[in-house]
Amino acid sequence: MTDQVKRVYAFGKDAQGNNVTEGNTNMKAILGGKGANLAEMANIGLPVPPGFTISCQTCMEYANADNTWPEGVLDTIQEYREDLETRIGKKIGDAEDPLLVSVRSGAPMSMPGMMDTVLNLGLNDESINGLIKQTENPRFAWDSYRRFIQMFSNVVMDLDGDLFENAINVMKRDRGVESDTDLTAEDLQELVAEFKRIFTENVDANEYPSLVVDGVVQFPQDPDVQLQLAIEAVFGSWNNPRATLYRKQNKISDDLGTAVNVQSMIFGNKGDTSATGVAFTRNPANGDKEFYGDYLVNAQGEDVVAGIRNTSPIAELKNTPGLEEAGKELEGVFTLLENHFRDMCDIEFTIEQGKLWMLQTRVGKRTAAAALHIAIEMVEEGLITKEEAVMRVDPEQLDQLLHPQFDADAEYDVVATGLNASPGAAVGEAVFSAEAAVAAEAEGRKTVLVRWETTPDDLAGMIAAEGILTSHGGKTSHAAVIARGMGAPCVCGVDALKIDAEAKQATIAGTDIVIKEGDMISLDGTTGIVVLGAVDLVQPELAGDLDTILEWADEVRTMGVRANADNPEDAQLARSFGAQGIGLCRTEHMFLGDRKQIIQTFILNENETVREKAVNDLFAAQTGDFLGMFEAMDGLPVIVRLLDPPLHEFLESPRALDVEIARMEATGADPAAIAQKRQLMEQIDSFAEQNPMLGMRGVRLAIMYPVLPRMQVRAIATAMAQLKKKGLNPKPEIMIPLVSVKPELEKLRAIAQEVIAEVAAEEGVELEIPIGTMIELPRAAVTADEIAQAADFFSFGTNDLTQTTFGFSRDDVESEFVPQYLAERLLPYNPFATVDPGVAKLVKMGVELGHEGNPDLVCGVCGEHGGDPDSVKIFYGIGLDYVSCSPYRVPLARLAAAQAALADK
Ligand code: PEP
Ligand code: MG
Repeated sequence: MTDQVKRVYAFGKDAQGNNVTEGNTNMKAILGGKGANLAEMANIGLPVPPGFTISCQTCMEYANADNTWPEGVLDTIQEYREDLETRIGKKIGDAEDPLLVSVRSGAPMSMPGMMDTVLNLGLNDESINGLIKQTENPRFAWDSYRRFIQMFSNVVMDLDGDLFENAINVMKRDRGVESDTDLTAEDLQELVAEFKRIFTENVDANEYPSLVVDGVVQFPQDPDVQLQLAIEAVFGSWNNPRATLYRKQNKISDDLGTAVNVQSMIFGNKGDTSATGVAFTRNPANGDKEFYGDYLVNAQGEDVVAGIRNTSPIAELKNTPGLEEAGKELEGVFTLLENHFRDMCDIEFTIEQGKLWMLQTRVGKRTAAAALHIAIEMVEEGLITKEEAVMRVDPEQLDQLLHPQFDADAEYDVVATGLNASPGAAVGEAVFSAEAAVAAEAEGRKTVLVRWETTPDDLAGMIAAEGILTSHGGKTSHAAVIARGMGAPCVCGVDALKIDAEAKQATIAGTDIVIKEGDMISLDGTTGIVVLGAVDLVQPELAGDLDTILEWADEVRTMGVRANADNPEDAQLARSFGAQGIGLCRTEHMFLGDRKQIIQTFILNENETVREKAVNDLFAAQTGDFLGMFEAMDGLPVIVRLLDPPLHEFLESPRALDVEIARMEATGADPAAIAQKRQLMEQIDSFAEQNPMLGMRGVRLAIMYPVLPRMQVRAIATAMAQLKKKGLNPKPEIMIPLVSVKPELEKLRAIAQEVIAEVAAEEGVELEIPIGTMIELPRAAVTADEIAQAADFFSFGTNDLTQTTFGFSRDDVESEFVPQYLAERLLPYNPFATVDPGVAKLVKMGVELGHEGNPDLVCGVCGEHGGDPDSVKIFYGIGLDYVSCSPYRVPLARLAAAQAALADK
């Protein structure tokens, strides 16, 4: 049928050595990352074991049709399988010289270790004889068969892996041997029989009627049945819980599906001239230009990542007897791949009896430090342009570099060292299971997850923990790879750490140190050290590679980046991170500590003299605050927002007061004191509102208590005047929050202008202070043309705008129903983290209407979304002049804004 959808694609050579590959690297959406790059490697002449790829779309069709195959696909697979047999000159299941295949997942986006793989498929009671004959190595053959049954049972039939591990342990105990490798061919043959028995006993005949032979379930002997079940299992693994969690974590769509790669097996465990390994073309931890990775002689691929045996560094491969040629060829492949993909590549290879085979390549995951270093070096090498370098670095990943480090002045004793697998420092309570890390996080406690080695099942715990510590495994082990991807600090392979996860404790060999669950520990993933107790952490500075990339980003960036800061230290920090001003100074944050007392006096006192004194005290304090802020940001705009929160936020908690009164009464306290507290309680109650966030806050507060905005504007103007007299260049702007109608803003504008004029006259300096408003209510956005007539600038408060657009209480819903909404995909992401399209539409309308009302209007955003790279790109598209975010997000926003500008070119 000519109009049939193409669902299966060949890769590799035919029997005559011609390349018959049907795909290429640009087909990741169809072939998955692994399939597309296997095709690409075959196309550029690299040795790729032949095979074929079943498309991701087939997986989705199968899943959407309730796990039934689209018509005709099984026949196509059969054709491709037969073609593969012809190309290789061997048949699956053959009793003389059998072809064995691997069946591997491979989604469009890399999801390391999240989905399933079956190796050695095609072995049965007949083909085992062929394998023995061909290899003249019965031990190898029986070991392959027992591995296949074990993997098939676990992955495809979902049987507990322990059933098989226990059988191996019993056998080892019976034989009095320590290691799997001490078991003989006869032992392994016996294990195969035992594994088949376990299979029969544990697989449900009702669920798999096709596996019933002579009334009992049997391990499938027909390679077609094996293959079909394995492919179905790999398809199914797209929706297993850990893959689903990983996608949610990494914002990968659930609709992509996984491809399935069926590929002829290559054996790295055929003796000492065989090996298998994983490698990177550059160091993925720090970006150094060196071949990086590990290999194991006489092993199968899974052994390397599983961290079960200790690996050798890749640099030693070409000096290993019997592997010299393959080692040299591999280094040539590294260079070829880098030049071809123009990026650092991650590679899986196997050497079978001296011959090198490439099993996978992809653009390698790397730490933020490595990403910067590699991008810069590749520009220097002429491999990529500066602009490509800017596009290469993931803004979200920069967060890693802005993670805390051990304070250089802190004193601590290193109790153990391991591999510096993922940089940054972490401090937390030791926990010995993923569940404990998750439970602690729910209670707001920070943890370090301590494991022998992590597995994909630990993912939730790895996300919950501050850092990850393992006693085993190399820099390419699961823990290391995942931690680097997440930007979590990780130290792995700490040999001295002896973990007893059951007893929830670990000891350090050669010492009497015992680390119990809950004990504070610290680790530094940059240096690989482990410390007992909590080490003081410090924030790093912008320097070196990060500074270089951000400078390049600034060369192409057109949208400004400001910071949200309310004290001189944060303003200074933001400036050092490249902020071009303060987009939001929340003045209520200046009313904490002793100041709270003053504002309480103002709110709760009827006596005018007392109130006036309180206002004067506030004025003095605020003037000092603004002097510091404007000086730190000299020459750059500082948007000061007038008081925003509901007044009761400054008052005592009525609940605490209630408890105090009860305690006073119970202990027979002075009745006068009790009466005073009761009166206070009544006053506080009078400020209570049912919906305070929709109540007397923002501009409404200023209208009800005009003395407050007068005091604040006077402080701003006075600080400006004083600095101007000192020869500085302060540039404050005044922002009115939560405006919904133009007259509100007009009223406040008039008040502000009057006070500014008074101060200018008193101080004898000219004071130009722009006055603008926040747009954080839908009414303000849709009537922005009117409001803009009274505004010099708009700043979109997307926190409140999200709250009021959805009618979602911003203080509650993220811990209430939003997680459920995300789990059920009722929302694609948390709208308080990344701006929602509906809210973005209101921002766009606000910007467009605002410019109709005032063509010179300056527009920015200062909600949390201003520091979210995805939102920054959306705001660029809307045409905002700047985004404003917390100081630590400023570098991310600079990079994201540059990427948005480049994507627009
Ligand atoms: C906002 O609402 O987006 C905003 C920046 O103001 P706040 O978070 O202080 O309400
Ligand atoms: Mg707000």
